[in-house]
Amino acid sequence: ARHEEFYKLAKEAHGRVRENPQAQQMGIWGTWILTAVKQEIGELPTYNHRTGVFPGWEKLSGDYIRPRYTVSDRACFGCSLSCKKVNYVREGPFRGTLEEGPEYEGLMAFGSSLGIADYPTTLKANQICNKYGMDVISAGGTIAFAIETFENGIITEEDTGGISLKWGDSNQVIRLLEMIGRREGFGNLLAEGSCEAAHRLGRGSERFAMHVKGLEVSGQDGRTHRSIGLSHATAARGADHLRSLVTVDQLGYEEVAAKRWGADKLPEIIDPYTEKYKATAVVETENAYCIRDTLIVCWYSVSWPPIFWMEDFAQMLPLATGIEEFGRVDNLTKIAERQVTLKRMFNVREGITRADDRLPDRFTKEPMPEGPGKGQTVDLDPMLDDYYSLRGWDIETGHPTSKTLRRLSLEWTVN
Ligand code: SF4
Repeated sequence: ARHEEFYKLAKEAHGRVRENPQAQQMGIWGTWILTAVKQEIGELPTYNHRTGVFPGWEKLSGDYIRPRYTVSDRACFGCSLSCKKVNYVREGPFRGTLEEGPEYEGLMAFGSSLGIADYPTTLKANQICNKYGMDVISAGGTIAFAIETFENGIITEEDTGGISLKWGDSNQVIRLLEMIGRREGFGNLLAEGSCEAAHRLGRGSERFAMHVKGLEVSGQDGRTHRSIGLSHATAARGADHLRSLVTVDQLGYEEVAAKRWGADKLPEIIDPYTEKYKATAVVETENAYCIRDTLIVCWYSVSWPPIFWMEDFAQMLPLATGIEEFGRVDNLTKIAERQVTLKRMFNVREGITRADDRLPDRFTKEPMPEGPGKGQTVDLDPMLDDYYSLRGWDIETGHPTSKTLRRLSLEWTVN
């Protein structure tokens, strides 16, 4: 609506991204930059989330991959960051594979989580997932479940159709992915995902299915990053890292945390090993991401590096739309709260309660066995209490209260 002011602000916003040193690094390495970071903080899911450090991490890092495999950079329209990488394998069993990606989550799902220190395997696996329309986190997580279940003698070659499952076997992973995509043999069971596969197998296999509400856990670990434990437990569609992943605590952005949530919450709010104040960080981040996603703004530069936040959206929206009330952060926050609570009411209708906002026992009962976070577990309940209180949801049931529904004009969702 106010074109000149809008373009001036948009130009400034591009400049803020271009000049940010971390954004510049993202432009070179894409999300592969995360492999080294996650290894350093002990949050690189390895062997089906058993541990957070992987001895072969260097072969899954940007430093290793880019000079050997990257043939071009790509960007979405108008992006000044360009995180996408197109890659080509020149030799070895996957020679000739040409594909974009995978991003960090794919490196984790087909690399460290399966004990595979081989980038071409992850690229080939990513290509197969794209071909069949399969999610890389779910596909890799389900194969990791199968391997660990086999390793523990719960399933045998009788169940797998003669396949002996083991960690670090690239050819086997590629074969399994094709079988899942075509629903062939043992792949037909794995195509259901780890939650349903465990349900059908029984025999105690459930403890190796790393999922929340049926969705496989993404490439983070609440034991060494408490806020993501809460995010995984509360996200509407399951163990989702996209709706409220807080990077400010994980990577220690003290100034950003003080500005967003108040210096009085330091140092706890950026301490990845404490539950205190994590609900505040998750709720506020979830609200900001609701507006980010509503505006179709990229994950990067909002979530990481932490450049733009609610104030920036509030500054830009009235210029773009002419609607002045979008220029107030409290109004945007209310829109976001309404979205989160509406999704919750959808889940309430489907029978979801506090009991479903859980994490696999691996995160709450099995201490991190090694690395910087050795000995850590997630204490989920206090964070859930805080989260429900901040959201205006009932602490016992996890259902939005009548007062909250009235405040957000969502009374109609009750019936
Ligand atoms: S995903 Fe985001 S950072 Fe990557 S190219 Fe697209 S707009 Fe740019």
